[in-house]
Amino acid sequence: MALLWATLVVGGMGLAVSAVAGNPEGAETTPPKFPDGELRAIWWGEVRAKEREEGLREIHESVTALREAGFNALFVWGSSLYLAALREEKYVEAVPQAKWDAFGEVLRAAHEAGMQVHLWYSPWLYKQKYRAVELREHPEWAAVNAAGQASEGAVCAARPEVRQFELQMVLGFVERYPALDGVHLEEPGYPWGEYCFCKFCREAGRRLFGFDFAERPDDPARSHFKVLVCNDFVFRLRQELRRRNPRLLLSYNGSAGANPDWYIGRDWLTLARHGMLDFYVPQVYTTRTEGFQQRAKETLQAAAGRVPVCLGLAITYSGIYPRHNTPEELVRQVKAARELGAAGIVVFHRYHLREEERAALAEVLRD
Ligand SMILES: [Zn+2]
Repeated sequence: MALLWATLVVGGMGLAVSAVAGNPEGAETTPPKFPDGELRAIWWGEVRAKEREEGLREIHESVTALREAGFNALFVWGSSLYLAALREEKYVEAVPQAKWDAFGEVLRAAHEAGMQVHLWYSPWLYKQKYRAVELREHPEWAAVNAAGQASEGAVCAARPEVRQFELQMVLGFVERYPALDGVHLEEPGYPWGEYCFCKFCREAGRRLFGFDFAERPDDPARSHFKVLVCNDFVFRLRQELRRRNPRLLLSYNGSAGANPDWYIGRDWLTLARHGMLDFYVPQVYTTRTEGFQQRAKETLQAAAGRVPVCLGLAITYSGIYPRHNTPEELVRQVKAARELGAAGIVVFHRYHLREEERAALAEVLRD
């Protein structure tokens, strides 16, 4: 425990300081490079077909339709299980798409169509055994809630071995697919609700702040602690990406507004201030144009020009599912994003995209 803790403090803080040292103002001087100066992306997900022939058809049809609609980037989901299955036969049954390298096929098809591909990766969440390798191999990494129950879908970001593992996962994709255009982090904070009270975190609380988190769950020190460990991951990742491939864009998604996710460790504003992100994607999910404009404006004001903001808009989302936003509303939101000076838009999500929405978006995206 003591050794792990020393690694966390010394390794994490040391890296953070050295990463910032050459850039004291924290300003990122190079604007991100999007194909036509504007990012028009979609959260693409994974290839759903399991077998190669059907999968290649799915990729071809989707890439063609999206390119024709004016999209110029795909955020393609990459999981730890997928990467493991590329390397080890024993995982292939759980993710047969790895057998024919579905991720690589999407990358190839998108590039042939002139579109960017960003690896879409979640470092701490979506770690259920059926789709991730972490809790299959390391059940002790599970995040633990206030009632002492281990999560079946989230790992504890505070453990240095977890952050190291997730860093190696992202770098594994980057090395396997050198043509990648970016890395897009999915909500890289703690799960909603009361986390984490695992043995490691409780011990960390005692050593760092002098009390057990479980005894004072509302103490703000817990939020500071979450920010420290989550930002440490992004600092390290940024540093490693710059070393390997400085062309890669690093982005991050979370809530809209002035950093309301800070208390769960999603501190994009500090990262932006230190030049760690190439762009931020707030999920401005709403059915009302006015609400979209308001929350988008709040996010842009919070960013204050330190980091480009690409606005996330939803065909559907948990608040309205299975209902969809109207095609007309989606068009109004794209127009609003441009009027507000956003660097682009990201549409949630390919799986929900119907022809009527694609056709409506094509009208405005191709402008
Ligand atoms: Zn923990």
